Formats: sequence, C-alpha cells, structure tokens
Amino acid sequence: MSSTEATIGGLVGTRYKPALSVEVSDGIAIITFDLPNESVNKLNRTVKDEFVALVTRLERDTMVHAAVFISGKPDVWIAGADIEEFQELRTATDAERLSRDGQMLLDSVERLRIPIIAAIHGACLGGGLETALACRYRIATDHPKTILGLPEVQLGLIPGAGGTQRLPRRIGLTNALDLILTGKTVRGTKALKLGLIDELVHPSILRTVAIQRAHEVAEGRRKSERHSGGVKGFLLDANPAGRTIVLRKARDQTLAKSRGHYPALIAAIDVIAAGYEKGVAHGYREESRRFGELAMTDVSRQLIFLFFATNELKKDPGVEPSQYPDLPVSAFEPLPVEKIAIIGAGFMGAGIASIAVLHGSLVRLKDADHGRVAKGYAAVRDILKERLTKKQITKVQYSDYMALLGGTVDYSGFGNVDLVIEAVFEDLAVKHQVLREAEASIHPSAIFATNTSTIPIGQIAQASSRPERVIGMHFFSPVHKMPLLEVITTPQTHPQVTATVVAYGKKLGKTVIVVNDGPGFYANRILSPYINEAGILLDQGVAIDIVDKALVDFGFPVGPITLIDEVGLDVATKAGKIMAEAYPDRMLPAKSIQAVVAAGRYGRKSKKGFYSYDKEGKKSDVDPSVYGVFLAPGSIPVAPSITPASAEPPSIPEMPAVQIQQRTVLAMLNEAARCLSDGIIRSPRDGDVGAVFGIGFPPFRGGPFRYMDALGIKIVVQRLEDLNARFPGRFEPAELLLDMARRNQSFYTDERG
Ligand code: NAD
Repeated sequence: MSSTEATIGGLVGTRYKPALSVEVSDGIAIITFDLPNESVNKLNRTVKDEFVALVTRLERDTMVHAAVFISGKPDVWIAGADIEEFQELRTATDAERLSRDGQMLLDSVERLRIPIIAAIHGACLGGGLETALACRYRIATDHPKTILGLPEVQLGLIPGAGGTQRLPRRIGLTNALDLILTGKTVRGTKALKLGLIDELVHPSILRTVAIQRAHEVAEGRRKSERHSGGVKGFLLDANPAGRTIVLRKARDQTLAKSRGHYPALIAAIDVIAAGYEKGVAHGYREESRRFGELAMTDVSRQLIFLFFATNELKKDPGVEPSQYPDLPVSAFEPLPVEKIAIIGAGFMGAGIASIAVLHGSLVRLKDADHGRVAKGYAAVRDILKERLTKKQITKVQYSDYMALLGGTVDYSGFGNVDLVIEAVFEDLAVKHQVLREAEASIHPSAIFATNTSTIPIGQIAQASSRPERVIGMHFFSPVHKMPLLEVITTPQTHPQVTATVVAYGKKLGKTVIVVNDGPGFYANRILSPYINEAGILLDQGVAIDIVDKALVDFGFPVGPITLIDEVGLDVATKAGKIMAEAYPDRMLPAKSIQAVVAAGRYGRKSKKGFYSYDKEGKKSDVDPSVYGVFLAPGSIPVAPSITPASAEPPSIPEMPAVQIQQRTVLAMLNEAARCLSDGIIRSPRDGDVGAVFGIGFPPFRGGPFRYMDALGIKIVVQRLEDLNARFPGRFEPAELLLDMARRNQSFYTDERG
C-alpha cells in the first residue's frame, strides 16, 4: 500500500465511491469510514465487502504495523447494521448466514496480524460496538454524542456478530447482561468504568492519541486490559458456579418482567450461557442460529416496523403542501422558536418547561401566584437534578439550563415569545380566559398551543381573535420521559403554525403525530373506552388486581386501574366526562370509578385510591376497603389480594384473563378504527405509533392496527359482534371494520405485515 491511498479491494478506477478510505503514514493505516450519501455510517453488504477486502490487504501489507479505525461523520462512529437489509431476509437460514458473515469478518479483524485501534466519536451501536469489541484497543471521546450499546433486543433480535460472546468476556457477565438485555446505551465515562473502552479523550485529540496508541500497541508497549468487575465480578462472573447463579437470576427476572413476550431476551441469555458451557465457537454458532430464528418472529417484525415508522415521522414535516395549492412554499417553512411561555406551572407545565430548557429554549413560566410558580420552578429543578445525578448533564450545563427559566405571575415578558403553551386546569372557561389574556400580551405572529388532554381545540379557539394561530400540543406525562407528542390541528390552523409546532416538538426530542381535532383527539379517545371497560368489569365484581394483571400480561406497562390511580382519578373522571358527553353510546363512565372519586380517593396524589400508598406515595396492594365504596356488602371478589378464605361469602369467582383482555382491548381497537375513518389520524402508522409511544400499547404487537391485522379483521369483527350481543351498544363494530371484513382487507399491505 502506498503512503496515501484512497481506494481498496480492486475498486480503483471505478466510479464507485468507497465507504472506507485508507491513508498510511509512518506505518499506521488510518481507515476512515464515511458512507457516501448517508448521514450515518451503517454496516451494509457493500461496506462489509469493502471491509473484507481491506482486512485481506492489511494482512499482507508488511509496511503497515497498525491501523486506526475512525469515522468521517460528525456524530456517528457506526450506528449499527443496515436494518433495511434485515427486511429483505426471507428465511431463518438467510438471517443465520448474515450473522455468520458478520462473525467471520469480525473474527478476521480480531485475528489480524496487526492491531486495529477503534477511535470512537459519536454513536457506536449494535454492529458498531461489535466491531469495536473485535478491535485490539478502544478509545472513545468524552462528548455527549458518544454513546455505546447493543440495542438489538429493541428490535426483537440479539447481537449477531459475536457481541454475545465478546462483551461478557470483556466487561464481565453481569454488566454484559445488563447492556444486552436492556439495549441501553452508555456514555464515555461509564464505558470506561465498565471496561468497554480502554481510554477516554477529548474529541480534539482523538486522532492523535489513537495514532500514538497504534504505535504503542503494535510495539507491545500497551495493551487493552480486561475488566475483572471487582470483588463481585470475581465471585460471580469469573467462575462457573457464580455464573450459573447470575444466569439463573437473569432468566427469572427477565421472564417475570417480559412475561415471555420478548423471545430475544431469553435467547440472549441462552446464547451467552452456551458460550460459557461449551466454548466460544459453540457460542458463535448458537448466536447465529438464534439470530436467524428471531429475525423471522412476528415480535421482531413489529418492533422493526415501529423503528421505521418512528424514523419516517422524524422526517415528516406534519403538513402536506398539496392540500394548500394557493399557498407559496415559504408558508410551510417552520418559524424559529427560541423563546416560549408556559401558562400553568403545575405537573404538566413544569414538565414541558424542563424539556424546553434542556433543549436550549428561553422559558417564561407563569402561574396564578408566586407559591405555585415556585413549586413549578422546583419541579423543573428536580428533573434537571436527576439528569445531573445520572451524569447526563454537567454542573455547568445544569446552571446554564436553569438560567433559561424565569417565573412570573403576570404576562410580563410575553411580548417577544414565539410560542405560548397553555397547561392550566382542564376547564374550558379557564382555558378561554387564559387564551384571551395571553393574546392581549403576545405578538400577533406568536403561536398559542394548548396542552388540553380532551377538550376539542376548536372549542378553545372560539375565544381567540386569531384562531389560525391556535393549535394543540398534547404532551404525555411524565413529559420528560414519554416520547410522544400529539399535535392537534383544527380546520382553521395555518399550516405554518403546524409546521412550526411539529419542528419544535421534534427539537424537544419527541416523536410527533399530527391529528385532527375532536374530543380526546387520538390517544385519549382510544384510552377512554378501554379504561371504562376496565371500570365496568369492577362494577361487575371482578377484582381490581385481576383486571390489572390481565392487561399487564397482555403487554401493557401497567394495568388500567393502576394507570388511573397514577394519573389521578379527579383528572381521569374530568376527561371521562368530556368523552361521555361526546360518545354517550359507548363511553359512559363506570360506576365504580365515579364512586371512588366521589369518596375523595384520587389515587396516588391523595395516597388513597384503588391501591394503598405509603407516606412517600409508594404503591402497595389493592386497598380492600375500596370495594366497600362501590360493591354491595358481601360481594367480595376472589383475587390475590383477598383470599377466598378471608372473604365473606358470596365471593365473586375470578374472571379468566382472556375475557378481561378481549373486552378492554377490543373496545380500544374498535375506537382506533373509528379514529381512522373519522379522519382523526392520517394513517394506521400514526395510530400505531401514537398508541405505543403515548399510552403504552404493547410494542411487540406493533400497535392497534398491526394487532388487528395479525388477528384478522374478520375475527376482530366477530369478537366485537359477540360482545355486542352480550353488552348491546358498547361494542358495535366500526363501519370501517365491517367494510374491511367484507372485502377481506387489512390495514397494512406490506408483505411482512
Ligand atoms: P395541574 O393542576 O398540575 O396544573 C395546572 C396549573 O395551572 C396549576 O398550577 C394552576 O395553578 C395553574 N393555573 C390555573 N389557572 C391558571 C391561570 N389562570 N393562570 C395561570 N395558571 C393557572 O394540572 P396538570 O396535570 O398539569 O394539567 C394541565 C393541563 O394538561 C390540563 O389541561 C390537563 O388536561 C393536561 N394534561 C394533563 C396530563 C396529566 O397526565 N396530568 C397529561 C396531558 C395533558
């Protein structure tokens, strides 16, 4: 190889622009990965071919003593495998082969005559981290954009290029299981502590240090040290008996948490165990075999669908210019949003303020009195402090972000804001008053967004003198954790207002769906019949924890009764009332929920709801006294919390989980179909993303529409009709579903759907 060479593997002279370029200086080959025409580096078939050719040449070129592998992209080292290629896989054998090829390539990197130093800046994920693990030495930058992890389980897969074998041997079994089973990412400091990398440097010196280390490693003056994991690592990870305990515990915890819905998790544990029991070569074979199997599962298909759907939404401007043929292109350009005002410093207002300052916006937080402003300020501080404690931000950043927040009890400082977000009580009269007051103080071009959870935006905009600048921004609680933002437009909303709010939502890190106006919009509209049905089950004497358990078993993160206890029964019933007025045929609130709220039990916030809470608000079992609030004396349900022995006869027998799941979930699916035919959501894709990321619909089922497709629309209709015969009115199948069943249609047409 000559001293500067930019081509490899016989590709010289073609018009093909390689992803890997090599420059050799002083015996060190600097390999720069810069995938043409892409914003990120991904490992696709072509890159792998280039890589194989490069490894072969490096093996032969005796002038080269070591290599440095660096990225040409600003914030990405290697983001992982090209997931689009996964979608082309037709059989488990194809997928197994893909994994085998990756393993062999990285095996050749590991065994290469010369050491390769991974010089990591930016995302180093999945196949990227597996590549880094095969290198002889790893240096990463201490920049916040540098993150390392193996997120394959989030796609229903396991690392397939040796990650399940190399990672535990590098950082110890316990830590490796933690990374692989959660798919979480770690930043540089943590990666260094874990032993995932050997050195942490400032980005400005990454290249220089990497070259220096290349010389040192080649000359045997420096080598990567494996981490023992301290005393705990020695006792548990470093001997077969300890490992058996760690693996058994991981298996038990994983099964309890995932309820068997995510096969990749158990597969990852099996494959890691196989490598320890019968050697690494066997571990690799098992890794490929299981990778192949998993790639064909419905769970993986659904999770990959969600991955692509979310990525599509990141690029979606939220408005369709063709719908406004008279407007110039400039009318769809998002306006800059730098300074915002938030009215209402309560639970949601403070949450929104926290993410706004974290993304660099100047925020004016207003409430009715100083005490409430101070409370809101303290809530923002707590959220930022948590980030500081977790080392996600530095002390300087913490102070800088807090400095962006100002409080007020009047409208001072509203004159130059670009956007107002209203988060006052869920009461139309209050919202009208606040809107009028705000409009009197803000610039006519400023946007007024409301965070109402159920009141139609059009009704709120009736008090506005500029309804075209009024829009809904429905955040989910807790705002700093929930990924979805529902943007609600009315027929009057100007497209530029929509484009601006969508762009700002994305800037805040949210996945944004744009929906049309109507009571409850999308997420709360489909949640409402589901919660009501759960309440009606309680009316009928089904035990609280039986209902919750059935839905957690179905795949929801918490059951519906726990959910309303969390949200606050006062808030939930207020929203429920609005929904009941709009859809009295199917959303009349359950008597049990009304009775419990009337008894002053508001859930966690009042430390009394369906469940018991301690002084700190920590939830424990169902509070048995709550049954007395809504059930006739003596009607005590059979439930884990109240054993039949302690119950007074006649006790109500336990209802099978499947019946509970069908009644509650079918009510939700039916409503989702109505939202689509009513034009509330633009597409099944938006409906699926909205349900998964807004209300925790089980991701492995892909969302309500993917789930209906999986069941078959005919089956959905038939089950709804059966239920409607038993409970007339509530389960009347949506026209759309009846029509689709007649035509034998599905919501998605993709062949893998
Ligand atoms: P909250 O009671 O915690 O906060 C409301 C705040 O608004 C209070 O601090 C109150 O003092 C303030 N306020 C009332 N009138 C005001 C006025 N005229 N001027 C200034 N401040 C005023 O309520 P929350 O849970 O934060 O809900 C706020 C809004 O967000 C509601 O519309 C609610 O439906 C919606 N929302 C709530 C959730 C949730 O889970 N809590 C989720 C999404 C949307």
